[in-house]
Amino acid sequence: MFTKWRIFAVNHQRTFSVHLNTMCYCKIKANLKRLKTQLPLTRNYSSAPGIAGSDVKSLHSVINPPVAKIRNIGIMAHIDAGKTTTTERILYYSGYTRSLGDVDDGDTVTDFMAQERERGITIQSAAVTLDWKGYRVNLIDTPGHVDFTLEVERCLRVLDGAVAVFDASAGVEAQTLTVWRQADKHKIPRICFLNKMDKTGASFNYAVESIREKLKAKPLILQLPIGEARTFQGVVDVVNKEKLLWNSNSDDGKDFERMPLSEASDRELLKETIEARNSLIEQVADLDDEFADLVLGEFSENFDLVPAEKLQAAVHRVTLAQAAVPVLCGSALKNKGVQPLLDAVTTYLPSPEEREDRFLQWYEGDLCALAFKVLHDKQRGPLVFLRIYSGTLTPQLAVHNINRNCTERMSRLLLPFADQHVEIPSLTAGNIALTVGLKQTATGDTIVSSKSSALAAARRAGRGEREHGKKREAESLLLAGVEVPEPVFFCTIEPPSVAKQPDLDHALERLQREDPSLKVKLDPDSGQTVLCGMGELHIEIIHDRIKREYGLETYLGPLQVAYRETILNSVRATDTLDRVLGDKRHLVSAELEVRPAEEPCAVAKIEYADCVGEDLLQASREAIESAVHSACLQGPLLGSPVQDVAMTLHSLMIHPGTSTTMVTACISRCMQKVRSTLHALH
Ligand code: GDP
Ligand code: MG
Repeated sequence: MFTKWRIFAVNHQRTFSVHLNTMCYCKIKANLKRLKTQLPLTRNYSSAPGIAGSDVKSLHSVINPPVAKIRNIGIMAHIDAGKTTTTERILYYSGYTRSLGDVDDGDTVTDFMAQERERGITIQSAAVTLDWKGYRVNLIDTPGHVDFTLEVERCLRVLDGAVAVFDASAGVEAQTLTVWRQADKHKIPRICFLNKMDKTGASFNYAVESIREKLKAKPLILQLPIGEARTFQGVVDVVNKEKLLWNSNSDDGKDFERMPLSEASDRELLKETIEARNSLIEQVADLDDEFADLVLGEFSENFDLVPAEKLQAAVHRVTLAQAAVPVLCGSALKNKGVQPLLDAVTTYLPSPEEREDRFLQWYEGDLCALAFKVLHDKQRGPLVFLRIYSGTLTPQLAVHNINRNCTERMSRLLLPFADQHVEIPSLTAGNIALTVGLKQTATGDTIVSSKSSALAAARRAGRGEREHGKKREAESLLLAGVEVPEPVFFCTIEPPSVAKQPDLDHALERLQREDPSLKVKLDPDSGQTVLCGMGELHIEIIHDRIKREYGLETYLGPLQVAYRETILNSVRATDTLDRVLGDKRHLVSAELEVRPAEEPCAVAKIEYADCVGEDLLQASREAIESAVHSACLQGPLLGSPVQDVAMTLHSLMIHPGTSTTMVTACISRCMQKVRSTLHALH
């Protein structure tokens, strides 16, 4: 039926933020004093992480690990694949949470926004910092819900690597595919974790095949499962030819045994492992010349003798080059396979310095950071999560915000260690920091040390960019580059009483800084406040947060969807207008064609055929364009704005003395004919 017109409501992604009032905040003043005197100190966390209690380090190395030991990673997955459960296990095994969180009980650390707990989904990303075997891992929990891909995009900008979690019984699912493509776009090296190996229907081979086929990736099988579904007990480390078995009596999976596979007791498994290892070696040698030289030179007779470290280093290189993806497996829920996953994160995913970032050269060591999350805390005001790309952050530092062209001072600097925020004296490039006191900064802003430093960087960037034939200097300094789409869902919101309007305005102002996809406007006719969001769930959650976090019981009007109309085929129309007004004759004749635009455009694109004279156009261009644009304000289907259309004026004849109003009228009549033709087609 709808052959020529189509209506669409663009379902853009939604972004959300969290509130931190459940977080506890820990000052370690004593530690700061010790730092000043450069005395070593012992970390004292609630339970010792992967580091023993006797581990003594200077606070500086605790806070600012060597950049080679930093891993900024995200976990991405289709909803329900087990991202939150895996994150919780990671936090537990690294020692930063004392008990195992459970998404089904609603007590996980990363899903700390109340709505998330109730809904059991991770809506927004929270960054947590943890240490694992001497590595600093900053974990950005990216949302898995299909509607929150904008949030995912912003987080990807901040990551150096990612773990893709799959449900081993389902293989690659829709959302994973979307996020995988986004990660491709941002060139993020990945490793895959086939989770839920304990679940009925789990199949390692099926999941690996689906990675190969649907994601068009080259899986590097680094582990083999021992058992599947109900019989799943552990994994084989293919690289080291060892089996890892989790004690079935242990209720938290902390204890597991790592044993070399032996000819005597694991004959079959050993054979399988050697085969897997040999094909892994061949696969990697195919992708990495250095490794190929090694293998073909020294070890061509016997691949079995290739040292594990050499193989690991080569897997690291091909992962970094995104030529292949290491695949591991386990069951987060049953506490199996998470520790080796963490080992793999540190072994195979890159450090910040291994990632190419063209911004770094322009700043030459000056501060450059991206605000990737803003939260509001009742006591501390706005908290801004920053990824530092270059330079150093210290408390009390004045910084310049390029997006807002303003300078402001931060007060304190924190590390987001799981549910504890630790106050720190400085933080260097590669790290994720949480700052207090930045009142203007919003999600997505680029922060530098001063305006002059930004200008200097822009000059260097300008030089570099011009070599590549581009010029937009200031723009190229903005790190995020994630465009916030126009909202498509609208809804009025009313405070419980007129006296509460300022409170509502205040709440909405803060929420907007946290979440750039939320827009608030005032209806000029009714004077009502209108929420504009990315979808029903988005608006619902904003409503919920106003109630929970600001204690305001607001009323929402009916939800309205901003439909748009467009044209699918081209239509031509002609019209002649011949009037005598007073003693003047007004005569205009026009022929135009309306067709789908080649590129998306909010306002109609207008073109003129060569036969339409330049002189004629000079006098009447404005009249023509105003007629076309006003015709596009209301489409023929629902009266919604028309977009993605182009109009070509094929001929125009104007009798001397004809007023421009008559030209507008003639074009309007043509457009009206186009509408009628389209209507007749339905
Ligand atoms: P997310 O949506 O990716 O964050 O997934 P969740 O961590 O919230 O998990 C979704 C559901 O899968 C929950 O009911 C978990 O208990 C369950 N789940 C998570 N990991 C596993 C696993 O390894 N095995 C099984 N059988 N279920 C799991
Ligand atoms: Mg989740």
